[in-house]
Amino acid sequence: MSLYRDEGVVLRTHKLGEADRIITVLTKRTGKIRGVAKGVRRTMSRFGARLEPFTHIDLQLHTGRTLDVVTQVETIRPYGEALIADYPRYTAGSAMLETADRLIMGEKEPALRQFLLLVGGLRALSAGEHEARLVLDAYFLRSLAVAGYAPALVECARCEGPAVRAFAIVAGGAVCGNCRPAGAAVPAGETLALMNALLKGDWPAADASEARHRAECSGLVAAYLQWHLEHGIRSLRHVEREPAT
Ligand SMILES: [Zn+2]
Repeated sequence: MSLYRDEGVVLRTHKLGEADRIITVLTKRTGKIRGVAKGVRRTMSRFGARLEPFTHIDLQLHTGRTLDVVTQVETIRPYGEALIADYPRYTAGSAMLETADRLIMGEKEPALRQFLLLVGGLRALSAGEHEARLVLDAYFLRSLAVAGYAPALVECARCEGPAVRAFAIVAGGAVCGNCRPAGAAVPAGETLALMNALLKGDWPAADASEARHRAECSGLVAAYLQWHLEHGIRSLRHVEREPAT
């Protein structure tokens, strides 16, 4: 049996039998892993609350035939403690964990940039320096970009012309008047600028934005994320169904 050690953020947990729990963790070096924590639901468990979602942990596992088994856990940062008392920040953090879990589909495929984005997002949320929804939208845009789905925001997604007028999810982001498909949203220029500031991490510009542009930005980012998550998963299933040749 081989042992390995890594650090990671607990994305979710679910019950296994009477006393055990399966945890899904996005780790720094190994990528997404699932492991079983034995006896964790007994009151005297040595793992205690360390295996709760949001917690940044250092953990040791041994490789099992189906699931790896958690043998040691130490807390690095309990982000959940700062988030649980503040509903907007807690829900933003929960959306980050779920998005990381869904964007990173393969297990044990290193995803260092996604790990760093998630830790950075949880740290920013618990520090409370920016509005929770801005931190969440920045996380969505940047994790999509790392996954290869950065939206066009400054130049037209289709012809690369500079005069963007509308936002079309299917086209890949902002589009000019000529390339604009029917039904494309027509956001304010300030909204596209805010999205670009969040994607680039320009916090002075993002913090100075107006509430109406933040609301419009959140709507576009949520729709864009949803479309990519659904189509990403659908296209993967399609690939898996192709007959072997
Ligand atoms: Zn165009």
